Amino acid sequence: MKTLKSLVRGQWHEADSGFADLVNPSTGEIVARASSAGIDFPAAYAFARDIGGPALRTLSVARRGALLKQVSKEIHQHREELIALSLMNSGATRKDAKFDLDGATGTLAYYASLSRDAGDARYVALDDGLQLGRTTRFWGRHLLVPRQGVAVHINAFNFPAWGFAEKAAQAILAGMPVITKPATSTAMVTERCIEIIQEAGILPEGVLSLICGSTGDLLSLLGGQDVLAFTGSADTALKLRSYPNLLGSNTRANLEADSLNAAVLGPGVDDDSDTWDLFLADVFREMTQKSGQKCTAVRRILVPQDRLAPVREALCDRLAGIVVGNPSDGSVNMGPLATADQLQDAVDGIALLRKSSELVFGTGERCDGIGAEPGTGFYMAPVLLEAGDPAGATVLHQHEVFGPVATLMPYDGSPQAASELVAMAGGTLVTSLYCDDQSFVESFTAGSGAYTGRLYLGSRKMADQAPGSGVALPQSLHGGPGRAGGGEELGGLRGIAIYSQPVAIQGSRPMVDKLCGEFHSR
Ligand code: NAP
Repeated sequence: MKTLKSLVRGQWHEADSGFADLVNPSTGEIVARASSAGIDFPAAYAFARDIGGPALRTLSVARRGALLKQVSKEIHQHREELIALSLMNSGATRKDAKFDLDGATGTLAYYASLSRDAGDARYVALDDGLQLGRTTRFWGRHLLVPRQGVAVHINAFNFPAWGFAEKAAQAILAGMPVITKPATSTAMVTERCIEIIQEAGILPEGVLSLICGSTGDLLSLLGGQDVLAFTGSADTALKLRSYPNLLGSNTRANLEADSLNAAVLGPGVDDDSDTWDLFLADVFREMTQKSGQKCTAVRRILVPQDRLAPVREALCDRLAGIVVGNPSDGSVNMGPLATADQLQDAVDGIALLRKSSELVFGTGERCDGIGAEPGTGFYMAPVLLEAGDPAGATVLHQHEVFGPVATLMPYDGSPQAASELVAMAGGTLVTSLYCDDQSFVESFTAGSGAYTGRLYLGSRKMADQAPGSGVALPQSLHGGPGRAGGGEELGGLRGIAIYSQPVAIQGSRPMVDKLCGEFHSR
């Protein structure tokens, strides 16, 4: 059985105790083990900060971008091997595994491309400047200066490649060394990605470290120059943000947590229109891709009362085409949940939601999978629920079931009612609206925009180009208010702001312009 290693102080560390098992969720078989026992966390942190940080900061932004491009290419060259690992350790179908890996390499390549015009700049400026004195001789600009600490990245189990890569791309381009920690249950893909990068000798020593297993006392070492970026559940987010040293030194913490995303069908959408087809295709994909284990998955489907029956029927038809089972069987198009605990949480969560809704598709219980021994694996068929009174059932807006599960919710067809239901989740990563009526779009945006990080406006004019509401494109912000964690990642060069100190520079115009250079994030 494989023992996962950590990369600290430029060396591979293998623990000899305290192991957690990693399981193939399609079979229940133990495939690896991981532990961080024996890591000297203060030394690992100091190495990243004092060796990796300075090495990175002496490089120009363009040079850092070139490193990201090499990292992207190197991971891509190992795509088939990584897909096979993902099938084994995450239960991902081939399509789901590609989504994770191509998301990782695509985001790295995108951040590399942003630095193409950076010349020899070592900083990114936020603007061109403005006159501060009587004349333009006294001039001001804003500059992003890399923080001189360490970026600690803690990721969720569902995107072992993309999760690590999107955070690392932003930090490294900004000039911060990274210590990345994947969720233990699916860490095999991340561990292999880091091994590939290390073997290729791309990054200066100390720029990228890996912890497989617990973070030990790492978080208690962080101070005002460090960054903690976390993706996972709201409960863990609260625990991490409450570390006294993080609060005491105002350590930058960027948190991406739970999200009960809504897909809203606007009024007057004909069921033979492109907008209708896009709505159904997106909802179906967002319920079933990666077995619904996506932070951007649709959990709430808001439909005008008079369209409820055709939407229910069309969704049930599509869900009936799902074949749940071991992804190594060619007929399977949805794999298992990632762990036994995730499956149990989903079963318990559906039972809770059913107190305020009816089951209209699926059972909400474990099932056997095609291509798997009966009784083995963590399988669940998709579940569609329907709520009679969604405004009166708080739990449907607050309890996230992280699986192939969503709830149909009727509303009266007004933008106000739709916005109020969206807001009941207390903050989401994405809200999608399917509507060709501009005035509805405007009222809905005014009512619900403050409760979401991204508004995806599905309409007939973009239907043939849209990648779907669930894709976190690196060009756009990813994050959301309230329950969604309050974080902001990606969004092009805005994403490097997390890892930088924005400094207001004031002085003589030639001196300020020479210091800040031509490369800016606008
Ligand atoms: P989780 O249990 O909160 O774990 C997330 C990460 O935190 C894992 O790496 C975990 O490590 C680590 N962790 C847990 N307790 C910790 C502690 N005390 N100190 C340091 N690290 C700790 O979440 P999950 O089950 O992996 O992921 C599912 C959740 O993530 C869902 O709620 C989903 O909504 C959310 N999610 C959000 C986004 C987003 O972008 N907003 C994206 C994906 C997922 P171990 O695995 O070693 O315990």
